[in-house]
Amino acid sequence: MVKILIILAVIYFGYRHLKNKMLGDMGMDGSQGNAGQASTDDVMVQDPECGVYFPLREGVPGLVNGKNVNFCSTKCRDAYMKKNS
Ligand SMILES: [Zn+2]
Repeated sequence: MVKILIILAVIYFGYRHLKNKMLGDMGMDGSQGNAGQASTDDVMVQDPECGVYFPLREGVPGLVNGKNVNFCSTKCRDAYMKKNS
């Protein structure tokens, strides 16, 4: 029984490692300059409206001229969209 748990743990961590490696190999487009980040969960992005850096997963996504842009708040998103539409 314990053996099964160990095997599951190995598979789980192996999978996570593989996933991170794959994400790293795909590479970012380089525009953010933070390709050294291992996990997408902790990627910091800059709000184009106010210039503040925030974790991508906490951002507010918006579509500006067909491009996906992330903002720190809906307030910034609305202001940016107003200026760029
Ligand atoms: Zn902002």
